[in-house]
Amino acid sequence: METQTEQFECAVIGGGLAGLCLAIQLADHGISVVVFEKNKYPFHKVCGEYISMESWGFLESLGLPLSDLDLPIIKNLGITSDRGFVLNHRLQMGGFGVSRYSLDHHLFEIALKKGVKVMENCRVQNVERDGEQAHYVTTSLGVFRADVVCGSYGKYTPQFIQLHENQDTPNNALNYIGVKFHIKTEFPADRIELHNFRDGYCGISRVDQGWNCLCYLTTSRNLLENRKDVRLMEENVLYQNPFLKQYFTQSEFVSRQPLMISNVHFRKRQTNSDGIFLLGDAAGSITPLCGNGMSMGMRASQMLAKELILFFEKKQGRESALKNYQLAWNAAFGTRINAGYHLQKLFGKSRTTDFALRTLHSMPALTDRLIALTHGEPF
Ligand SMILES: Cc1cc2nc3c(=O)[nH]c(=O)nc-3n(C[C@H](O)[C@H](O)[C@H](O)COP(=O)(O)OP(=O)(O)OC[C@H]3O[C@@H](n4cnc5c(N)ncnc54)[C@H](O)[C@@H]3O)c2cc1C
Repeated sequence: METQTEQFECAVIGGGLAGLCLAIQLADHGISVVVFEKNKYPFHKVCGEYISMESWGFLESLGLPLSDLDLPIIKNLGITSDRGFVLNHRLQMGGFGVSRYSLDHHLFEIALKKGVKVMENCRVQNVERDGEQAHYVTTSLGVFRADVVCGSYGKYTPQFIQLHENQDTPNNALNYIGVKFHIKTEFPADRIELHNFRDGYCGISRVDQGWNCLCYLTTSRNLLENRKDVRLMEENVLYQNPFLKQYFTQSEFVSRQPLMISNVHFRKRQTNSDGIFLLGDAAGSITPLCGNGMSMGMRASQMLAKELILFFEKKQGRESALKNYQLAWNAAFGTRINAGYHLQKLFGKSRTTDFALRTLHSMPALTDRLIALTHGEPF
């Protein structure tokens, strides 16, 4: 294995949204950063691709000219039950649609321009700490040295990261799968819909390239009960919702091959592991029902960048950076994650969901309050 001589002030494991946003902000402050990404850009990801408006200004501040990209601005929400009820609601903050293929690629290019070293096709295999300052990051492309290591590797915790057992073991938590397609169909650009079915829900909203993102989450049990056959599960379970049946049977699929992830759990994890700063889904993930995991990852990158900049400017030590980041993270996301967990219980159940939607239909102020719990103010 090649041993790289290059040393970096900061190494970032995982070049998704959270990792790239962090790297860009650090590079803006003259900090040398390397990002390790196991894939090659651009690439697709399972994600609903709806971003809460809270992140618009932040992304533009990183150098992403969103206003020039002609993206769909989403202001209307429709939620259906499999019994055919539709709750329509005007979103106060709303969001916008952009595919992860495009978004992560834009951020990758900005990072490169700002001097971040991005190692593609490069999987991190281990991190070892040597004294106070040095970390040795072993990757498929060699060993790198960095003063600070950040983990933004997403929802699957690598083996070399130690999390407290009680926070990250699945135990009796539900095990989900996520499936995504891009489709072409008649669909208003300013609308997002969430369609419930037994033990799951499916979102649809416009993204770039005139595509719509059709993305659903369900329990792995649903798939097992349908011989692990996604198409069969869609026909037997998702089609019970008449709206979904229409989208699945009357749309043009950009590719009929689904993009899939399994073994997904939603929970708060922790903001550091043995001195490695964690952000994005690595620190905690929220049910996609709340639709704001991406904004959480970006906001966490901003909070962490602030602490790391103080650390590199020698205005605070490592321990206080770890502590301050943890406090900021809990204050920003604790309520949101709990709200997502409880809201999730109202969805994906035929009778309960139908009843909840009919109740919310007559109480628009309550609907506004519930939705507000799932996102934060612009940052
Ligand atoms: C079904 C579903 C729908 C969703 N819909 C939405 C939505 O509509 N809106 C929203 O805001 N959020 C949504 N989310 C949540 C959102 O996708 C995540 O919160 C967001 O992607 C987290 O970003 P991240 O940077 O932490 O992780 P990721 O985007 O997953 O990035 C992690 C990166 O790390 C890389 N990596 C992992 N391990 C290694 C390694 N060892 N070495 C090198 N690289 C590595 C991966 O290849 C990946 O690129 C959804 C989630 C699911 C499951």
